[in-house]
Amino acid sequence: MTERQPNEASEYSRAPAILVVDDDTSICRYCAKALRNVGYQVIDTTSGLVALDHLRHQVFDLLLTDIKMPEMSGLELARQARALNPGLAVIIMTGQTTLETLREAVQQGVTSYLSKPFEIEEMRLTVAQVLHQRAMVLQKVKLEAIVHQLELSSAFNRTLSLSELCGEIVRVTNSEIGCQFGYFLLQQPDESPRLLMGQASHPQLNEAGWQLLQETYQQQQPIQTTLKLAEADHNVITFPLRVGGAMIGSALFDYTEALPSAQIEGMMLLLNQAAAALNNAQLFTRVQEANSRLQELDRLKSEFISITSHELRTPLAVVLGYGIVIQERSEPPIRTYLDRLVESAQRMKEIIDDMTHLRRLDTRQTELQVEPIVLDELLYEVIDQMHGLAQKKSQTLSLATPPDALCTLYADRAKIALVLMSLLSNAMKFTPAEGMITVRAWCETVQAVPYEHAYFKGTLQPGPWVFVSVSDSGIGIPESHLQRIFERFYQVAQSLTREYGGTGVGLALVQGLVALHNGHVWVQSEEGRGSTFTVALPQRGL
Ligand code: ADP
Repeated sequence: MTERQPNEASEYSRAPAILVVDDDTSICRYCAKALRNVGYQVIDTTSGLVALDHLRHQVFDLLLTDIKMPEMSGLELARQARALNPGLAVIIMTGQTTLETLREAVQQGVTSYLSKPFEIEEMRLTVAQVLHQRAMVLQKVKLEAIVHQLELSSAFNRTLSLSELCGEIVRVTNSEIGCQFGYFLLQQPDESPRLLMGQASHPQLNEAGWQLLQETYQQQQPIQTTLKLAEADHNVITFPLRVGGAMIGSALFDYTEALPSAQIEGMMLLLNQAAAALNNAQLFTRVQEANSRLQELDRLKSEFISITSHELRTPLAVVLGYGIVIQERSEPPIRTYLDRLVESAQRMKEIIDDMTHLRRLDTRQTELQVEPIVLDELLYEVIDQMHGLAQKKSQTLSLATPPDALCTLYADRAKIALVLMSLLSNAMKFTPAEGMITVRAWCETVQAVPYEHAYFKGTLQPGPWVFVSVSDSGIGIPESHLQRIFERFYQVAQSLTREYGGTGVGLALVQGLVALHNGHVWVQSEEGRGSTFTVALPQRGL
């Protein structure tokens, strides 16, 4: 027969501790030895008084005691022992078992009994059963405590505001240990520590309290002591605040009645939940702060652009106006210089116009003047305007669609022209000399979602749409940049190298103007081979 090893039972993390008491020395030693042999930690004594002394200094799991002893009866010993350790299991060994003895035994919290004389195996079996039952009860109590703590801590998820959360933690702690105040010291690397109070009405924390919180943070252990605050002595307890093994701070609460170790353990569990909630609230606050800083920066940037473009517009109009007047009347070589001056001033005007458009889009000041546009006419007009530039770079600019295949579009003519010119101007800029720039257009009633075409893929509302694409045989765009090129001021090449010039505003404007028409822009590109930008616009407008 295999003996049941106490350590076999996974419910005990260490070998259970047993106190054996019997005034009969041989029975006492015999039982103790038999239990030791199977791995229990055993202390044995023939005296009830000595047994009580052991119980005061060591935590036992089980008391195995004779009932009839000269100094003190086994039942009296059981009563006093359970007063010291309420979770202690007790087995009494008795010669005659009367109903009266049994009733009294139950009253003293005796868990089981052994009738003398007993077989050693019977004794071991009873001990193992009682310890198993006790472990089950302890586990249940522990689980109930965890559930209770989790229920309490659910209150911590109600808010992401740090001050409200601290108030909530103190409220819950008050229901557990009756605290009146609570302080939280949150510490983050590279940041100065932050002290938060459970309520605004709390007394100010003094230096001794601050030291206690620091000590708890460093030692990562609770500390129980007294603290003089607002002229009164308080019993206080501190807890480390830990999230996933990392310390984030410490907390301090007062309490009124002595805290048993089980309650302190429960509080540590609760404070773990509180620490997680505090950490989340801290992260949330930081993200909010960073966000508002970014918004402020964005506002300042827009303001700067708006002021600068407004202030540049007037003097530039004067330069351009007089430049053109003198240009018309001048002779070479002055005329050549003036051509360059007017050209540069025109370029400056375009940049300022782009900025102004973008600003108007931001402030929702852009209004659409929708009118019927005969698509092929608009395309010829735009291509015509850009032809000169293409010729300068010996590029071929062509429309690859038969005009009769095209329809009438309802949109803002000037703004759609601006969009197409912007795309064409990029295509020319990022295509080397003698490259090809091709404009395609088609009108189609979208029936299946998503819509798929060689030059456009995306989710479009079913209905009639107009598509215009600009393809080039230029440098292309690396895939990792494709998502970002529509952001304002974003350029693939480092702006400092200024290889291609530009401001990074064009595509942001294209996207803004197309979105205003409820349309979409799609880009497809291959590095070193070229890019295609396609604009999809609802044919019948908004
Ligand atoms: P800009 O042309 O003034 O730099 P855009 O907003 O029009 O600003 O374009 C943003 C960036 O997208 C450009 O700097 C370039 O890196 C890339 N890009 C736009 N169009 C093309 C294109 N046709 N071919 C290659 N890269 C392009």
